[in-house]
Amino acid sequence: MCSNYKMDESRSFKCLICFEDIQNGISFFDYFKRPDCICGNCRQKFVILNKEVKVNGLSIYALYEYDDYLEDLMFTFKENKDVALHPIFLYPYQKLLRKKYRKETIVFAPSSLKKEMERGFQTLPLLFQGIKLPTIQLFEKEKDYKQSSKPFLRRKDIKGVIHLRKSVEMPERMVLVDDMCTSGETLKRMYELVKHKEKVKIFTIAINKKLLE
Ligand SMILES: [Zn+2]
Repeated sequence: MCSNYKMDESRSFKCLICFEDIQNGISFFDYFKRPDCICGNCRQKFVILNKEVKVNGLSIYALYEYDDYLEDLMFTFKENKDVALHPIFLYPYQKLLRKKYRKETIVFAPSSLKKEMERGFQTLPLLFQGIKLPTIQLFEKEKDYKQSSKPFLRRKDIKGVIHLRKSVEMPERMVLVDDMCTSGETLKRMYELVKHKEKVKIFTIAINKKLLE
């Protein structure tokens, strides 16, 4: 697993995406950095944002643009259940995120119980496990719907499906996270439900390009 890589061992590792030598396509400077879990060629295909963007009146910190490449990787990880891919998205940013959110508790966007049972694993906790910050499941989702497959889904529909879980204590400082921000409505709904809004931060791994325009 990526988080357990040691400097010397990693030199002989294979890329988690293309299975070629991990040193393929890395620059001279990359060679002296902490070894990655994918090769330089695969890493270069990610469209990096790494910045705060305004969506629906919220300030969201996004790492990547959600393009076809990222969509394919997320699909392979989540729907084809290729759990070995879990470190590839956040690995180069683990240290940055740990520092940026050192005072926060990570609050995951909810996925439905039915979906998790089918998958056999929880995607967000797995994606964020290398960050090593406290996490909490503050929300629950009533039923399944795929936002991207329902372009005309209205806000009231989302309001109906995401709730605060009962008997879970709300942390004072938190960062609301989702893996993909396609419309921004899920994060917006989460934000509406939490207290201490002035202290709440929001993070997504990837964001829909259309939301940036
Ligand atoms: Zn590769």
